[in-house]
Amino acid sequence: MFDGLNLKLTVSPNFTYLVGTNLAFSHKPIAMSQKEYSNGDITILWKPEKCTHSGVCVRTLPQVYNPKERPWIKIENATSEELVAQVAKCPSGALSIKK
Ligand code: SF4
Repeated sequence: MFDGLNLKLTVSPNFTYLVGTNLAFSHKPIAMSQKEYSNGDITILWKPEKCTHSGVCVRTLPQVYNPKERPWIKIENATSEELVAQVAKCPSGALSIKK
């Protein structure tokens, strides 16, 4: 418990509550979702929460990345070398190659 500047903090294992307000903060890490697309040679990981929708992937390899289709990544439509080169251009890090 902290009582400074008329603010009281009450801490529980998972939350900090600002007493006198209705604010609470979670201490639990938020799990980031991730999808995998494999061609048997490489696997592309896509983390939707990191995607900034810049469209670099769609413009670079439109035959692979099409947000209007499901799955939106058709990994079989490019070579592993083309895919690795494109993933390296993703500005947000939403796309990566599984190690
Ligand atoms: S290049 Fe990366 S950040 Fe941009 S739309 Fe594609 S996945 Fe999202």
